[in-house]
Amino acid sequence: MLGLMQDQPLLISALMDHAERHHGTTELVSRRVEGDIHRYTYKDLAARSKQLANALDHAGLKQSDRVASIAWNGYRHMELYFGVSGSGRVMHTINPRMHPTQITWVMNHAEDQVVCFDTTFLPIVQAIHAKCPTVKHWVALCDADKLPSDSGVPGLLSYETWIGAESADYTWPTFDENLAAGLCYTSGTTGDPKGALYSHRSTVLHAYGAALPDTVGLSASDSVLPVVPMFHVNAWGIPYAAALSGCKLVFPGPAMDGKSIYELMEAERVTFAAGVPTIWQMLLSHVQNNNLHFSTLKRTIIGGSALPLSMQVAFEKDYGVTAVHAWSMTETSPLGTAAQLKNSQLGLPDEQKHQILNTQGRAVFGVDMKIVGDDGKDRPWDGKSFGDLWVRGPWVASAYFKREGSPLKTDEHGRKWFPTGDVATIDHDGFMRITDRSKDVIKSGGEWISSIDIENIAVSHPAVAIAACIGIPHPKWDERPIVVVVKKPGKEVTKEEILALYPGKLAKWQIPDDVVFVKEIPLGATGKIQKRKLREELKDYKLPEL
Ligand code: AMP
Repeated sequence: MLGLMQDQPLLISALMDHAERHHGTTELVSRRVEGDIHRYTYKDLAARSKQLANALDHAGLKQSDRVASIAWNGYRHMELYFGVSGSGRVMHTINPRMHPTQITWVMNHAEDQVVCFDTTFLPIVQAIHAKCPTVKHWVALCDADKLPSDSGVPGLLSYETWIGAESADYTWPTFDENLAAGLCYTSGTTGDPKGALYSHRSTVLHAYGAALPDTVGLSASDSVLPVVPMFHVNAWGIPYAAALSGCKLVFPGPAMDGKSIYELMEAERVTFAAGVPTIWQMLLSHVQNNNLHFSTLKRTIIGGSALPLSMQVAFEKDYGVTAVHAWSMTETSPLGTAAQLKNSQLGLPDEQKHQILNTQGRAVFGVDMKIVGDDGKDRPWDGKSFGDLWVRGPWVASAYFKREGSPLKTDEHGRKWFPTGDVATIDHDGFMRITDRSKDVIKSGGEWISSIDIENIAVSHPAVAIAACIGIPHPKWDERPIVVVVKKPGKEVTKEEILALYPGKLAKWQIPDDVVFVKEIPLGATGKIQKRKLREELKDYKLPEL
């Protein structure tokens, strides 16, 4: 017997309808690329998203066609999120921090038909447009008078002119909730980037999960500043959870330095903000150096990389701001866990509470997790035993876009799990702590650097026998890459010669900070470089700038 409730698909357009009808007068405030502050309401957002949907119809885009963005956090990007997905197309957010060759690769792989970009990113578009044959329209997210006249990009449109010609009269289509809604490539692991393809269902369920008080926790009484970029895992789903909860939204645009973020927080009475530790470090330094305080900020959610305990304690003790530590992944939409105390832990001494709150946290309903050993068997939840972290749930990836094979692992009960590439412990209360990474990557300032790419470039030098890239802890960037090199017998090469191989092949910030020459690099039985051992051997190494 089936239940007798209304059978309504979970669609992203329903989030927009809700925000328009029930929070229509609530504000969205954006610092624009132009430098000024723009403000309008959810009602305006809904109207302009519908104009965009009409523009996509008139451009001949079919259901599931991809529309890409290369943009900062702002209201026009928000219109793309809802207008593109709401009308049944797929929103492909591109990370402008990738090297242009990688951006070209993902655009061609996604077969993007329309690309909307902030004018800041015009140089990227100029470098790649001729290599992206599927793109029919390049659209600059600006007014007609800001359109660069001599861009060299054929047929370049102004977004305002494009959608300005359209009516806001549009009825969102209804379709299967499992239809693709968003596409986000992760350049984290080796080889070509891999696309996580979110559905309407997974996005709406994730928005419910994110809005829960023990996770991101959004309310209509909040003023929310997502510093986490909308080009990196959908700003942790905050755009959708915001429409669901009806909170005020404040977008930082390109200005992510401590001073600009602080001023925006104060001016817009921000109560809640989200970002990676590097951003919060800059904010904290600005506040500390200038003897400031937060008048309205109550909570931040910090993730993407491990939250340093000292930062978490400084936020709480010095500024009365709760810093919630969360763990997320592109493949998990991205929310996986968040660290908030359980009722039974409220009476613990402060130090113990801080230890718990500094873990990556507990699973949110919608993401189950476990740790397994090399044999694929469960490891105990004792807070000490570590194993590979596996996750499963309705907003966890089951496959990658246009990629053969399944990334999933099957456990002894026949259940399918996504192996995260993180190594973790879980304690008896279900708090997970990341202890290491089995995937071969470095995360710097919240963005990935592939160690394999760095190694391949180093070994292209005729005097290099083996190269191994590892991440070295860094107070601002979390990690910075260095490359450890063994020279070929009788051959000579200098640090400068190796570093000279990188410009043009990797983005500037992905280039290793140093080259360390060693006699030997530890290899495992199968000839694989033992990175953990190498990191131990170099534990006293200091980066040149520190
Ligand atoms: P991304 O797909 O770029 O969001 O990166 C996901 C990866 O970032 C995870 O698999 C972890 O390796 C890392 N990560 C995310 N959040 C945290 C955290 N709170 N602590 C440590 N590592 C994290």
